[in-house]
Amino acid sequence: MSIILKVAIPAPLRKALDYLPPASQLDCLPIPGVRLKVPFGSKSKIGVLLEVKTESKLAPSRLRQALEYLDREPLLGPADLALLRWVARYYHHPVGEVCASALPTLLRQSKPARSQTPIQLRLTPSGQTATLPPSAKRQAALLSLLRQHDGKVTVSDLTELGWNWRPVAKALAAKGWIQIEQAPSWAVIPPCPFALNPAQRQAIATVTAEQHRFGVYLLEGVTGSGKTEVYLGIIEKTLQLGRQALVLLPEIALTPQLQTRFLKRLACPVGVYHSGLSENERLAAWLGFQRGELPVLLGTRSAVFIPMAKPGLIVVDEEHDPSFKQQEGFRFSARDVAVARALQLGIPIVLGSATPALESLYNASQGRYVHLHLPERAGGAQAPTLKLVDIRGARLQAGLAPAVLEAIRITLERREQVLLFLNRRGFAPVLTCYDCGWVAGCPHCAARLCLHRRDRRLCCHHCGHQRPLFTHCPTCGAKDLHALGRGTERLEDELADLFPYVRVARLDRDATRRRGSLEQLIEAIRAREVDILLGTQILAKGHHFPEVTLTVVVEADAGLYSTDFRAPERMAQLIMQVAGRCGRGTKPGQVLIQTRHPNHPLLTALLQGGYSAFATQALKERRQADLPPYSHQALLRAEAHAPDLPECFLGQAAHLARELAHEHVQVLGPAPSPVPRRAGRYRAQLLFQSPRRPPLHRLLARLLPALDDLPHKRRVRWSLDVDPVTLD
Ligand code: ADP
Ligand code: ZN
Ligand code: ZN
Repeated sequence: MSIILKVAIPAPLRKALDYLPPASQLDCLPIPGVRLKVPFGSKSKIGVLLEVKTESKLAPSRLRQALEYLDREPLLGPADLALLRWVARYYHHPVGEVCASALPTLLRQSKPARSQTPIQLRLTPSGQTATLPPSAKRQAALLSLLRQHDGKVTVSDLTELGWNWRPVAKALAAKGWIQIEQAPSWAVIPPCPFALNPAQRQAIATVTAEQHRFGVYLLEGVTGSGKTEVYLGIIEKTLQLGRQALVLLPEIALTPQLQTRFLKRLACPVGVYHSGLSENERLAAWLGFQRGELPVLLGTRSAVFIPMAKPGLIVVDEEHDPSFKQQEGFRFSARDVAVARALQLGIPIVLGSATPALESLYNASQGRYVHLHLPERAGGAQAPTLKLVDIRGARLQAGLAPAVLEAIRITLERREQVLLFLNRRGFAPVLTCYDCGWVAGCPHCAARLCLHRRDRRLCCHHCGHQRPLFTHCPTCGAKDLHALGRGTERLEDELADLFPYVRVARLDRDATRRRGSLEQLIEAIRAREVDILLGTQILAKGHHFPEVTLTVVVEADAGLYSTDFRAPERMAQLIMQVAGRCGRGTKPGQVLIQTRHPNHPLLTALLQGGYSAFATQALKERRQADLPPYSHQALLRAEAHAPDLPECFLGQAAHLARELAHEHVQVLGPAPSPVPRRAGRYRAQLLFQSPRRPPLHRLLARLLPALDDLPHKRRVRWSLDVDPVTLD
């Protein structure tokens, strides 16, 4: 009987590949979840062993031998592998690439799965004098290592042994000769500094009553309503059961803040995992969680795949945030994968937000999620009042209506802070010549160049192309070029003219690019060294600015009339999130929203009934138009250097799809993408839509392999996006 190893290799392959066991390690037992080095073409690659079989479809002569096992113990357990295989099927993405994304970079290379963790071993008094029979070689070696190191060794000392010391340490600990010290204090929990309110207690009780079972809990609570305290309460219970909690956040910038808060309240190690860490730090956090040494882990998107030794709870904070969806390569939604993972592990998952995604609200209304509410701000802070400011015909200065300027003035006189939200960075989105009508465009994209005056550059926000400013019009030579529209840089300048002695802080991607600069700005705002905060959607992310009492939404209209059907949802979320930054201290807050469409039904719903009234209205519109969550979508994108190729390729794909789709799957398109040329490539897309998921996935599973046989295949780059969050 032969042994066949099914190995998932990071390459654009639909299937795992079959290999024979490595010749040099024939005595090793192959366990799924270990890494393997295998030959691939003329090179070698690191893959993950998915399965061990006794037969292969390949002829024995065509099977190659794997080169070596890289791990003795599996890095990924059976549950992890099952999840990754499910995810690969769901997103129709190569299983090897999916497996690779579950590993930190160092483990994707051939680095050993070792890291420094806070564990240490200590020799007990009885261990000092203990003697062992000659057969217990490893135990003796470990004891003598401890004696050489003054009775105390760390993990890095232990790795020098070159073998798996963990079971040996356990055996010695069982004899009482050594102690394994790994922050065992996590049963001792400092008391919560204040009494939770009834809604918070109710939310915690509901989840913890079903702690051993799968359940999705949608925790909807306005900003400042104490959601984080609810997470902490549920995590406490999870830790008491000796289980781990994984907390997913949309943003790196939020992790230090939350980590500090968790550390204060949990008295146990709280790890973080995100792209801002060094590779070694990421490896340590990954292994710490995988081994169960780290009870709590805060992480961004990719942390959703980290194995849990003792799974107990998953929390997704700000679950509505589009950053949970990866927008390139392996386009997964960390929130949706987290729900699938909780189901598979049989543990509760809490999705928290002040402005839940319409999909989540719909799932709650269908009884699939338990809907928990925190209706009021905690600690007595009042909800801010929202008001529309009709700017039709108004004499604007700096794009601001007289009533808004007056409100800013009054707020500044009271020595309180003002927040201005303008979701466009740069100085101006358009640079044009009035004499001949020339407009600065990106040479590589069907898009305009945005003026960034601070850097004296024109930048393309689609491909990153940059160039120096024009000194005159390149077509007619006119000297005066005009900047149209307004971004945060321009508003910053205009504010300096209008309020000369006022300190303005600009928070956008350009101003916060340097590492640590966002933290500095936030510190300055908290320390009251700033009077006006001006920024893009960075301001909408979970920060707490207690002295802000006036928030101005400079432009609300862009989201109302966009070609993207999700734009109104996004706009409403941003408005409510920036509104939530305001009046969180003891003083009440006011939110002014400038619009030219004061009677728009979605805006009036938002103003009169808050986010939930908006959501009801928006869901009604989605249902009428058969849009998600009332249907399910997948988007096939194609791009090529030749102008007609993407649409031609997708036209053939559409033809195939219509032949294959017996059931209710609509095939819409092909059509040019909203940005029809980007970074020198022409782009088109084909949309699949179905009222039910299974027929859609059946179609995709049959269609994708057939795309490889289409004539233009080699000249077109295509990618599939299941549950796209943007149709761009
Ligand atoms: P959210 O996560 O919903 O924005 P937080 O959990 O951050 O809200 O709570 C907002 C503020 O209110 C925090 O400073 C928190 O310490 C405080 N807080 C939360 N719950 C209570 C409570 N029951 N009593 C008093 N203060 C509370
Ligand atoms: Zn000109
Ligand atoms: Zn460009």
